Amino acid sequence: MSAAPDRMHRPDNDLVDLVFDYMRERLQYDPVPLDHPGDGEHLRTQLSGLLNQDGNNPADVLKLYDHELSRAVISADSPRYLSFIPCAPTKAALLFDMVVSCASLQGISWLEAAGAIAAENQVLRLIADRAGMPETAGGCFVSGGSAGNLSALVVARDTARRKFNVGPEARLRIAVADQVHSSVKNTFNIIGVEAFKVPTVNRRFTGEALRAALAADPNPETVIAVVGTAGTTNEGIVDDLAGLAEVAREHDLWFHVDGAYGGAGLFAPSVRERYNGIEHADSFVVDPHKWLFAPFDCAALIYRNPQLARAVHTQDASYLDVLHTEGDEWNPTDYAYHLTRRARGLPLWFSLAVHGVQAYTDAIEAGLTLARETAQLIRDTEHLELLFDPQLSAVCFKRRGWTNDDYYRWSQQLLADQIGFVTPTGWDGETVARFAFLHPGTTMDMVREILDTMA
Ligand SMILES: *Cc1c(COP(=O)(O)O)cnc(C)c1O
Repeated sequence: MSAAPDRMHRPDNDLVDLVFDYMRERLQYDPVPLDHPGDGEHLRTQLSGLLNQDGNNPADVLKLYDHELSRAVISADSPRYLSFIPCAPTKAALLFDMVVSCASLQGISWLEAAGAIAAENQVLRLIADRAGMPETAGGCFVSGGSAGNLSALVVARDTARRKFNVGPEARLRIAVADQVHSSVKNTFNIIGVEAFKVPTVNRRFTGEALRAALAADPNPETVIAVVGTAGTTNEGIVDDLAGLAEVAREHDLWFHVDGAYGGAGLFAPSVRERYNGIEHADSFVVDPHKWLFAPFDCAALIYRNPQLARAVHTQDASYLDVLHTEGDEWNPTDYAYHLTRRARGLPLWFSLAVHGVQAYTDAIEAGLTLARETAQLIRDTEHLELLFDPQLSAVCFKRRGWTNDDYYRWSQQLLADQIGFVTPTGWDGETVARFAFLHPGTTMDMVREILDTMA
């Protein structure tokens, strides 16, 4: 007799205990170890033969994951992870992510997931309020800033096409500065629009520069949108959003704000003023999996006028007709390029509901304070040179006398010694060092320990 086909779907207490015990242990790591880069040869050997006809003992598979695979994953939630943009989810958000997984929530439509969507929309509303966007604003959670930028700029493009009554043959351009995120450049490639490049002033995209560039261009009417960045990824610079918004109004441009990294600063009183003008955005993206302490993958995408997004993104298929009835239904699938969707806003919702907004403000301010104190320490250190006053939580600096290779060697050694994960970055064609602070558990002692290795 063959084995029952539902044998994988039956309750299995031993498996539950095995995995929950591991998760309990992972959640209690103090500190979370940084871990190491992977060795492909070694990993392939470990994995060899695993996916066979009959399966394996779950304890052995979990042990392989714990002892081999997870050690070859650098922990983005270690307080010593200071590269790129770290991820430091709250315990409440991590735990609720497991609930989202266990409950198999299909976050696609109001029909299927009203309860989950109502809670997600409550979070979107909170963020929209912080930005000062109107009551009508709304959107959905997508997988990341890249998906958010793409989804928003498709709406910008199609809204312009409708306005000018033109098709795909029309040349359309979107104004950006050179520090705009690579995902926006990718978006242009995907959606067939050109970049209208505007030079920055002190690395900041200003309204004045945009106005001048439009005035100097022979075809300004082909420019249909502008993208401002609320916190450039490398340097944490917030563009002149108020100035860009003003020019966008003058020229009837769609105003998109990419706050994937920096948007969380809306919750930090010490920097809130830098975001003035964001209230005029037609679309806005912030990644809670960055500085709002949600687990991967979670980006909030908000439109000023969600109807425009719906006109572009609603998928037309007869089996979906049932989703589109009249009433107060809100289908996240209608507001971005996706259909099936994890209810990925819920971990943030749970954590916000449990801890309150002030806890978020405190944790974000902690990263800002670390950046300011680190900047001061660098200024006070003879052999180091601060490249600019940090605006948010990124700090770029140089070790006087170092070559490019010195930075890479130093970075590798730092990780090998488990002191820190700090990768070099580019600055005007030079290689320099960069910290991205985000984890509220990072301490100045850790920073000093890292800087001491540059002496
Ligand atoms: C990280 C980032 C993105 C891309 O976001 P993902 O979540 O990685 O897709 C886009 N824009 C900015 C400014 C970012 O920092």
